[in-house]
This record gives sequence, C-alpha cells and structure tokens, in this order.
Amino acid sequence: MNEALSPLDLDFDRRHIWHPYESMRDPKPAYAVASARGVRLTLEDGRQLIDGMASWWSVIHGYNHPALNRAARRQLARMPHVMFGGLTHRPAIRLARRLTELAPGDIDRVFFSDSGSVAVEVAIKMALQYWRARGVEGRTRMLTIRGGYYGDTFQAMSVCDPVNGMHHLFSGAVSEQLFADRPRARFGEPWDPSDLDSLKDLAARHRNEIAAVILEPVVQGAGGMRFYHPEYLKGARQLCSRLRLLLIADEIATGFGRSGELFGCNHAGVVPDIMCVGKALTGGYLSLAATLARPHVAEAISAAPGAAGALMHGPTFMANPLACAIAAASIDLLVESPWRERVARVERELRKGLAPCAQLPQVADVRVLGAIGVVEMRRPVDVAETQRLLVERGVWARPFGRLIYLMPAYVMSARDLRQLCAAVCEAAALQSA
Ligand SMILES: *Cc1c(COP(=O)(O)O)cnc(C)c1O
Repeated sequence: MNEALSPLDLDFDRRHIWHPYESMRDPKPAYAVASARGVRLTLEDGRQLIDGMASWWSVIHGYNHPALNRAARRQLARMPHVMFGGLTHRPAIRLARRLTELAPGDIDRVFFSDSGSVAVEVAIKMALQYWRARGVEGRTRMLTIRGGYYGDTFQAMSVCDPVNGMHHLFSGAVSEQLFADRPRARFGEPWDPSDLDSLKDLAARHRNEIAAVILEPVVQGAGGMRFYHPEYLKGARQLCSRLRLLLIADEIATGFGRSGELFGCNHAGVVPDIMCVGKALTGGYLSLAATLARPHVAEAISAAPGAAGALMHGPTFMANPLACAIAAASIDLLVESPWRERVARVERELRKGLAPCAQLPQVADVRVLGAIGVVEMRRPVDVAETQRLLVERGVWARPFGRLIYLMPAYVMSARDLRQLCAAVCEAAALQSA
C-alpha cells in the first residue's frame, strides 16, 4: 500500500489512464503527488509545491484540514453511504439547512448530486419540467452568454462557449442554444447599459422557445476567466422577471467566497430562480454538488398532475452522507472564519504580485478579483514547459489556452502568495512573444 511509485508506475499511468482533456498519445507529463497539507503538495520525489490552484477552485481551507478530517472520520465510523431513495440522514439535513440559510433570497429547496456538471443538468431539467408542468409547450432552449463554462455533460456542454467549448467535436449531438454577446464592461469599470442589448434582443426574439437564462454570476470561469460588471447580472435578472423566464445561476466556481462575496450573485444583490453549487462545497474533499431552487420553481414542478410532479432525477450516490458531513463542516469552518478579510488579503497580494507581468510584451491582460488572479497571454501558453519551470520554482499552477491563473486557498500566507506570483511572472516572461 505504502510503496513508493516507480518509473514503471508512471509509465503505466501514461499508457492506461486518461487525464483531463488529454490525449493518450504522448500526453503531457503528470507529476505524482504523494500527499498534501495546508497549501502545499508533496511530490513523490519529496519536492514541495505551493499550490496555486486549490485543485480547481475547491480546496478553500487548504488540504488535510483537521476540522474536515474530524468530520470525515466521525461520519465514516457511522455510515459512509446509504441510498437516498426513501431514506434520509442527519448530514443531508444539516447541510441543506446550511445551504438554504446562506443562499440568496428565498432559495430554499435543495437537490443533491455528485458533480457540478450533473447539478447543471438537474438545473436545466428543473427548468424544462417547470414549463411542462405549467402546460407550456415549446420552451426547451437555453439562453446564455458566450465565453461560459458549465461542465462536460451534454446539456452543460451545450451552453458552454460554442467556439472554445467542444461543440465542433459533437456537432449534431449537442442541443443548439442561444448565445448572447459577452458583456464588455468589466468588473470595477464603468457600466454601459448597451452591454445588455444582445441578451435582450435574443430573449425578445425567442421568448416562447426559452426555458431559462443560464449564466455564471460575475466570473466566467473555465470559459476564459473574465470578470464582468454586476450591473449586467442585475439587468439579466430584470429581463428574466419581465419576460417571465427562469434565471439559473451557476455558482459552482464562484460559490463560498471565491470572488469576494459568499456567492457571485451577491455582488449584484440578485436572487436567481435556480442555483448550482459544487467545487468548494466539500472544501475539496469529495465530489458533491447541489441544485437549489426557489419555492415557486419547486411548487410549479410538483403541481404537475400525478407522477409528472416528481423531479425526474436520482443519482445512486445522491446526498452521500460522508460528502454531506464534510460539506457541512466546511461551511461551518468558512462562516466562522474571517473569510472576507482573508479573500481580500489574497486579492491584494495577487494584485501586487502579478502587477509586474502587465508590463511584459507577451502579456495581454492581468486581472484579479477576490482570490482569483489571471495573467492572459497574447499567445497560447506552452503548458508542459511552463509547468516544468513552475515546479522548479516550487509552485503548482495549471495554465490553459492563453491563461496562467491562480485561485489559492484563502488561508495562504502573504509570503507564499509572493512566491507564487513571482514564479508566474517569471513563467510569463519566458513565453514566446
Ligand atoms: C467546474 C464547473 C462546472 C462543472 O463541475 P464538475 O464538478 O467538474 O462537473 C460547472 N460550472 C462551472 C462554473 C464550473 O466551474
């Protein structure tokens, strides 16, 4: 069990195991991690790396946190799993209570699932069932904005950016959705109401075909790491209310403080009809997600005649008790911590630390919001080469496309943040112009 990995094991990995968005022919190198604690990964060869990724937005408190370990051990001793059909349990009830307390406005109905993509599928299903239950036919399309990312399952993929998403690979098999232009007004810059024209225009023209508007509040994540003006979100909410469209907010990346507010929607004081959370929900321990809804959505769906009133979803590992117990402990940890100050401190350090990059001719843009720092290059980043350099400098970041970006745990010290940013600036300087 505890034997060290050999070069043969790594060779097996290369030959037999797919990694995310990776080919099996000559895949980019994968670094073997032996353990992780706080903000540091320890590689099999003993090297320690300051982790700038928080394992894709999720490890907000750091790895191997005593409070989360304790919650996991306690629940493990009681019941790691039990089916959720016809049964219920304390961890699910406790977590759902927490989520409904924290979620904006009157959002108070919770559907648990096992990953972010599935939470988005469930949100879309809710929107479709909502209209069917009300006897309205033909409202089956989603309206969204370009540059989005909502996951890798089919309906989620259908609303991802049609160009840099994967639509061309699956054309003919993904639903054709409606895409408004990306908001131009950036977070913290002047607002221009004409930004909403494209969304308004599509909504008006296709009003009777649209089941819901889906968007990532304020931060567009894996679709390009852009931060847009909260007024856009406010305008989208008003538009949905006026045309009686449902608004789905995908808070899977933004939830739990990442952007400086507990949820992205809070920047605009907006209450969506349906909201997805995932990623940081368990503090990065286990895969768990939830789709939350306002009462009017749940009640409309449930009012359909007979069996049609049931929400037609039920994953095998729905509300997994172990994951729910850890998630409840993670939320306790978050709300009892000075997370707002911590995220603001990370933001300050990222701003300071990444500022030198902005001068480089290879760099198109540097932007920071909350505990998210982005260096956008003019050309695609050489991922393998960049990672090699970063690892040499004792840090971990995973660039994609033209982006080198950071989303550290909120607890990272100023000193570690400085080292992280310095390594990123050095990596940016070494890219070809
Ligand atoms: C990561 C992500 C998803 C998908 O979540 P998975 O758990 O990877 O399926 C959906 N939406 C957003 C905004 C995300 O960042």
